[in-house]
Amino acid sequence: MTRPVRVAIVGAGPAGIYAADALLKSDAAADPGVSIDLFERMPAPFGLIRYGVAPDHPRIKGIVQALHQVLDKPQIRLFGNVDYPNDIGLDELRTFYDAVIFSTGADADRALDIPGSGLDGSHGAAEFVSWYDGHPDVARTWPLEAEKVAVLGVGNVALDVARILAKTADELLPTEIPANVYDGLKANKALEVHVFGRRGPAQAKFSPMELRELDHSPNIEVIVNPEDIDYDAGSIETRRGNKQANMVASTLENWAIRDVGDRPHKLFLHFFESPVEILGEDGSVVGLRTERTELDGTGNVKGTGQFKDWDVQSVYRAVGYYSQELPKLPFDVASGTVPHAAGRVLAGGEPMESVYVTGWIKRGPIGLIGHTKGDANETVACLLEDHTTGRLPAPAQPEPAAVTEFLESRGVRYTTREGWYRLDAHERALGGAQGRERVKVVERDAMLDASEPGN
Ligand SMILES: Cc1cc2nc3c(=O)[nH]c(=O)nc-3n(C[C@H](O)[C@H](O)[C@H](O)COP(=O)(O)OP(=O)(O)OC[C@H]3O[C@@H](n4cnc5c(N)ncnc54)[C@H](O)[C@@H]3O)c2cc1C
Repeated sequence: MTRPVRVAIVGAGPAGIYAADALLKSDAAADPGVSIDLFERMPAPFGLIRYGVAPDHPRIKGIVQALHQVLDKPQIRLFGNVDYPNDIGLDELRTFYDAVIFSTGADADRALDIPGSGLDGSHGAAEFVSWYDGHPDVARTWPLEAEKVAVLGVGNVALDVARILAKTADELLPTEIPANVYDGLKANKALEVHVFGRRGPAQAKFSPMELRELDHSPNIEVIVNPEDIDYDAGSIETRRGNKQANMVASTLENWAIRDVGDRPHKLFLHFFESPVEILGEDGSVVGLRTERTELDGTGNVKGTGQFKDWDVQSVYRAVGYYSQELPKLPFDVASGTVPHAAGRVLAGGEPMESVYVTGWIKRGPIGLIGHTKGDANETVACLLEDHTTGRLPAPAQPEPAAVTEFLESRGVRYTTREGWYRLDAHERALGGAQGRERVKVVERDAMLDASEPGN
């Protein structure tokens, strides 16, 4: 083949960008060359780095810089504000490219099937995260009248949600939060945030650093009940074999034995409390019912039949993210992922011609940004093997211009890498005017306008 291998990547989150990086570092990049188009439904790249990671987590900036270096490569084009399949479908992608990698991630809430989940005041964590991260497609206001709030789940997302609810708006003001989020948080009445885990301290899925960070706010008193510190043989084995789990358990133990201080907002971490019902009155949340659990010797828990009602007026369900089904691709509803073998999409158990997945849509919504790199390497290795063994059918229109002509013929208002840099500069200028590094633009049209030449 004398022309470069043409690859479309749908989803410009970390997984998609790492896949582009892996392609550019492969032998194929030297001969015959690779040419990559990244399609992204948002006008800005970076997926959950922009619309998931909490605004008070600036330490991932180094990752963003590394991803920018990939995006800057001349073999890559970015098409923002382009949605699969509404703006470009699978048939068209196959017309223009040798291969298509889907890296569309996960942005919805996994359902929690307990009575009361649908009450007013019962929220999915992903919805709240999208709000405080300034996602254009969610409401601009958020109800924060509850003085006592429950957060269900013991992963990092639960910690993010609890921390944002317990911090003051002014603590978050130096971050990139947009004005509507600052105003919303300023009106937040929460004084107590209760985080609930069904199992014990050794089974919590927190990252040690994220957990310790809770204690750094001058406004948050983190409280652990000494009765919630318990281990069985299974838990002890987990602590011995898993350094992170051991660090988390040690931190929780230390918090359980210290005196409670007088910081104004109380954040309780409860273990061995399994949420069984969100209690309602007149359609709104008035409480949470949990069943006390106990360890069964293996690190798992069983119910004790002892129930407790907690006085809370709002409940956040942080029990996991869930991917959206992609039209024309198979989908496993239970795991919320696309079935695959090492990244090759499987339809009815057989590899689908020239279609691949990577990141959270491939692996499920677990793991940090860095973990998507390994995913991408595996997927790209399969793609390139299929290329060298002649398993990728040649596309009818491999010329790069065919894609822009197609999008323009459809009237798609797409943005480009240069457009993203204009928006980036605009957001930095908005921040600079207030002594902040950046202020996010929320409205999609305003993002598109700021991406136009001349802005
Ligand atoms: C609340 C939260 C906080 C987190 N905090 C951290 C943290 O502090 N540190 C850390 O390391 N990790 C963190 N993570 C994990 C990290 O965000 C993920 O590991 C990572 O973003 C997954 O990458 P991805 O590219 O697979 O998916 P995503 O980041 O979701 O990217 C997918 C991209 O595809 C686009 N897309 C989706 N559908 C379509 C479509 N139909 N057409 C076109 N484009 C589409 C999306 O807009 C998005 O840009 C956090 C996750 C969550 C949920």
